[in-house]
Amino acid sequence: MADAAHQLEGQTAAEILRWASSEYSPKLTFAAALGAECCVIIDLIARNKLPIDIFSLDTGVLFPETYALWRALEEKYGIQIRAVRPEQTIDAQALVHGAALWEREPDRCCDLRKIRPLKNALSGFTAWITAIRRDQTPERANAQIVEDDRKFGLVKINPLVAWTHDDVWAHIYANDVPTNALHAQGYPSIGCQPCTSPVAPGEDPRSGRWRGAAKTECGLHVAPPDGEGG
Ligand code: SF4
Repeated sequence: MADAAHQLEGQTAAEILRWASSEYSPKLTFAAALGAECCVIIDLIARNKLPIDIFSLDTGVLFPETYALWRALEEKYGIQIRAVRPEQTIDAQALVHGAALWEREPDRCCDLRKIRPLKNALSGFTAWITAIRRDQTPERANAQIVEDDRKFGLVKINPLVAWTHDDVWAHIYANDVPTNALHAQGYPSIGCQPCTSPVAPGEDPRSGRWRGAAKTECGLHVAPPDGEGG
């Protein structure tokens, strides 16, 4: 794993995806959260005609603009982005856990609506691609291009790990990649509607996620301590 990560350091994202596809497809999938970075990876997968499965978690409380982007990406690239949904609808969850669980127990809500569905979606795959960048959060600062994902028991491939915010947007403009309309309305990082607010100029781009709570990650990209299977 460390050898592959070392050898791929300095290669383009398209080269990393090509390597990943030759190494792991058809047991390779991309979990697309439909942020700007995800749109770049979808663009690279589609334009290079790489046989990589793509899915997105539909928590049931995404912004209408996110659902519109989902359709726009499928249409532009002629691909299917599979929808992975939680076991319970929002109404069913409210009956069991009370309404607006995200206001009282966001970790539990993320576990029910993101982590568990993601675990199910990843079973059967050997490797998964994510769109994380090292400079997004302190938790992501040490991410490697290829790493052992102990939380999900998979190989994790991060083709954009060395990219900056400006790299992402330069690629988007140069290649006319569809992105979420909310980015232009003060939302640099977009998750579920109840847990995402716009950020002011100069604020940390992720400060609009779970604003007012200590939470900064949904838990998908944080490795558990050694020995803990997640
Ligand atoms: S981001 Fe908010 S609404 Fe979405 S799953 Fe997590 S707590 Fe629930």
